[in-house]
Amino acid sequence: MTEKVIPIRYGRGATSPDAPWDGAPLSDTLSRPLRDLRISVTDRCNFRCVYCMPREVFNSDYAFLPHAAILTFEEIARVAGVLVGMGVKKIRLTGGEPLIRKDLHKLVALLAPLGTDLTLTTNGSALARQARRLKDAGLQRVTVSLDALDDDTFHRINDADVSVARVIGGIEAAAAAGLAPVKINMVVKRGMNDHQIVDMARRWRGSGHILRFIEFMDVGSTNGWRMDDVVPSAEVVRRIGEQFPLEPADPNYTGEVAERWRYLDGGGEIGVISSVTQAFCSDCSRIRLSTEGSLFTCLFATSGHDLKSLIRGGAGDGALRDRIASVWNRRADRYSEIRTAETARLRKVEMSYIGG
Ligand code: SAM
Ligand code: SF4
Ligand code: SF4
Repeated sequence: MTEKVIPIRYGRGATSPDAPWDGAPLSDTLSRPLRDLRISVTDRCNFRCVYCMPREVFNSDYAFLPHAAILTFEEIARVAGVLVGMGVKKIRLTGGEPLIRKDLHKLVALLAPLGTDLTLTTNGSALARQARRLKDAGLQRVTVSLDALDDDTFHRINDADVSVARVIGGIEAAAAAGLAPVKINMVVKRGMNDHQIVDMARRWRGSGHILRFIEFMDVGSTNGWRMDDVVPSAEVVRRIGEQFPLEPADPNYTGEVAERWRYLDGGGEIGVISSVTQAFCSDCSRIRLSTEGSLFTCLFATSGHDLKSLIRGGAGDGALRDRIASVWNRRADRYSEIRTAETARLRKVEMSYIGG
């Protein structure tokens, strides 16, 4: 009996991943669309969070990217415009610490006319100074990372001379400027800050800001991740719920990364992002543009796809579109679904470079 050969279908209808893009919505090998773009605007940061840029690795010997290697605002805006034409609906600026890239509001002003949802993730240390001009340039919302409320724990985590009060000042300035609702991200690592879970919930209940707990992940290859250090989201919800009863809330949209929980007494909501214990790869529609202009189709990738040489080599938008389509057509990433202690040891690209 002859075996029936079923052709692999790349994208919608395409039988070759390298066929020129025909304008049809992109769809990867697992039928996932391309919807979200994360842009890393710098690989540098003024913090040295132990789970992201540990100081023993990211010290004065570390080779950060030279200025000439990083995409200009005009180059970033061009790639973003091409991607929006191919289906991207949400753009998030990140890094590294995006607010240490000089004049970031000028990039926001170039991206705002694209008409997508436009947000930014920051450690908050420079937010109070910049919130108003970012809003005026067209930024819609911010997510601020804050892992503890007491300065001792905070300093042990970020290894930088920034107080909790300064970050909270950034959060309040962002809300006052209209970059709301502000989301507050807390990465939870056992023994590092899990004693702060309920204090954080208490502090932000009823504030109008949305606190979200993120499971500690094995990003990059320098943060010494072990499964034992992960505090499962189910435990976070249980610990908060014992103090302040919670009920599950419906997702805002299909594929929302955070699972929502609402306080029964009307004190607002929290979110939990269970990247380790409940992987959400099957809905992952994110692409990342690294600081130096490579595309990454997964946070845990070991390599990217160079676009900068095309851009600086004079390629037109059509050539960029064909390259992006061929990258997305081939995409099969589902790292969090197949994570093991062995994969955690792979030499993955650092999160500060690829964009968190
Ligand atoms: N510097 C900005 C900040 O900290 O918000 C933006 C970049 S940072 C890489 C983006 C997000 O990734 C932050 O909320 C940070 O807490 C989170 N993150 C970094 N390393 C992580 C890890 N190992 N596990 C889970 N989340 C992590
Ligand atoms: Fe910097 Fe953000 Fe990484 Fe902390 S998590 S080291 S603030 S990039
Ligand atoms: Fe997406 Fe990769 Fe994260 Fe899965 S592991 S959700 S594919 S970025």
